[in-house]
Amino acid sequence: MQITFWGTRGSLPTPLHPKAVRRKIVNALVKGAGKGLDTQEKAEAFCEQELTFAEAGSHGGNTSCVQVDTGGPEYLICDLGSGAREFSLAALGKHGPAKPQVYNVLMSHVHWDHIMGFPFFVPSFIPGNVIRIYSCHDKVEQAIRNQSHAPCFPVEFTVLGAKIEFIHMEVGKPYEIAGATVTGKHQLHGNESYGYRIEKDGKTVVYTTDCEHKPDYRDVMEATAAFFHKADLVIFDAMYSFADSISIKEDWGHSSNILGVELCQMAEAKTLALFHHEPIYDDERIEGILAETLRFDEITRTGDPLKVVTAYDGLVLDL
Ligand SMILES: [Zn+2]
Ligand SMILES: [Zn+2]
Repeated sequence: MQITFWGTRGSLPTPLHPKAVRRKIVNALVKGAGKGLDTQEKAEAFCEQELTFAEAGSHGGNTSCVQVDTGGPEYLICDLGSGAREFSLAALGKHGPAKPQVYNVLMSHVHWDHIMGFPFFVPSFIPGNVIRIYSCHDKVEQAIRNQSHAPCFPVEFTVLGAKIEFIHMEVGKPYEIAGATVTGKHQLHGNESYGYRIEKDGKTVVYTTDCEHKPDYRDVMEATAAFFHKADLVIFDAMYSFADSISIKEDWGHSSNILGVELCQMAEAKTLALFHHEPIYDDERIEGILAETLRFDEITRTGDPLKVVTAYDGLVLDL
């Protein structure tokens, strides 16, 4: 399987402010001074080798949307945040609008940041396309239809050209979707949310965003670790610092990098992707969280090192 992150920011889209862009340029110019960066190739190599990701790139601007390429002819994505627009444009660019496709969508829940991309999901306008929206959440159809209802959006859901189906999933029951086996799990979050374990050809990715984990609820922690068991990749809601998640932001419905490590260690998972970044965190802060996460794994692990990445829009991971 190949995983492509199209939207990785939590709660609302977070574009890079012009002042932040300027700061990155000034920093790079100072670091590159006197290094003879007088060609595109030399400048590219300098960015690649001598600048950190926070210095030369940026973490998520768009909200949740992750593509899971299962190797078959049908598409599979998780959530319809603002990143879904980018995904849909890339898919149309690949096939052209005249060649109908099947798009399967797994919806975690219906908070704005997970549905706001649907009105701009271009394949929905095109006759011949099939869009199957799966979820264990029972309000998905209602929320997606209402979002496009006047006066909030000028194109009503009822006039969309694609064939759009809503399929309710039972928690814990495996479904065959886009050639993969998908199983849902209930998660602790305001207005409910659901995580999905996606398995194909011996590889497993778990998409688990918008979920609060409480270290004292050991039975729930154990059940979650069983859901993550030996996953190759866990895409995890690491929105808050651990301190915030158990103090001022307790019961806000999100988790931390530290609990991500603990659960992945319990589950013997291979890679943890920190996801659903807090909008107030800048790139340096998110990079700092990655360093803290790796250090925490180093001092607490009893088995193999956990691979940890911070998800960003455009990141591609091969399992
Ligand atoms: Zn969210
Ligand atoms: Zn939410």
